[in-house]
Amino acid sequence: MAKKKDKGTKSKGTKSKAGKGTGGTTPTAPEPAPATFTDALRVGEGFTLADVDPRSTPAFDGDKQAGKDALVAADAELDALQEQLYAQSRAGGRRRVLLVVQGMDTSGKGGIMRHVVGAVDPQGVELTAFKAPTAEEKRHPFLWRIRRALPGPGMIGVFDRSHYEDVLVVRVHDLVPPGQWKRRYATINTFEQKLAADDVTVVKVMLHISPQEQRERLAERLERPDKHWKFNPRDLDEREHWADYQEAYQVVLGRCSTDHAPWFVVPADRKWYARLAVQQLLLEHLRGLDLTWPEADFDVEEQQARLAASEV
Ligand code: AMP
Ligand code: MG
Repeated sequence: MAKKKDKGTKSKGTKSKAGKGTGGTTPTAPEPAPATFTDALRVGEGFTLADVDPRSTPAFDGDKQAGKDALVAADAELDALQEQLYAQSRAGGRRRVLLVVQGMDTSGKGGIMRHVVGAVDPQGVELTAFKAPTAEEKRHPFLWRIRRALPGPGMIGVFDRSHYEDVLVVRVHDLVPPGQWKRRYATINTFEQKLAADDVTVVKVMLHISPQEQRERLAERLERPDKHWKFNPRDLDEREHWADYQEAYQVVLGRCSTDHAPWFVVPADRKWYARLAVQQLLLEHLRGLDLTWPEADFDVEEQQARLAASEV
């Protein structure tokens, strides 16, 4: 079921305090706990994509400027949590995060990479953009190239498109026989279940835009010479299949949003909201790992004494 903006949350719903008490000034009547982005955007049973308003801003009541400010304000925490994840891996930890980003052309995947992922130390991120498979990739099962791109321990892996293309574009255009792509939903669920069991926190995000918004974004790409490079005439061919893609996404969301690897649908007609929401989803999942700094495997005082005694 589409969640509409939660009027009960008066908080600007963000920053490092989301999900915790406000700790502040309000002595008044009990308030509902601020909704987390995780709760507000998660695809649950009976979910219908067509019911989600692409202009809505679930779990956030602020305006565009507040959203942009909130994004910047949370950068430091995201970066710090990533560093902690990495530090854990140096001490033998196996945990990693995989952010999967899907969406129609112009839905803002590139902006997520620049504005959300770009705020994290590049040494802690492994980003892969999946294009139409190469000749070599086509000789292997569809998950082959996906497995090769999985993040190592301590890393945040980010997929710009993913194995889901193999049940989206492939389904819409019957790029393989239907009997073959139909089996992939179950294959994907098993694959992701194994990832989860192998210490991978999988966060799957669909950027949900309206066809009107896509028209505007494509028009802008055509109007502006500095955006022509982003325009691909094939995007207009794909646009003709809008309804088929929505149906293909609905099936994905219905079949592949599992407890171990849920989907989150992010309304994306407002770019600032989509970026904030994906950042907050990442943050909430990283916080959920309860990361700590690994303990020193040396005697700190002893090393301090050695340093103090050093004559250099
Ligand atoms: P872009 O993300 O705009 O660079 O475009 C990448 C293109 O690669 C899109 O048109 C995708 O549909 C296509 N693509 C990605 N994965 C696959 C796949 N497994 N099979 C066919 N086409 C794909
Ligand atoms: Mg494109």
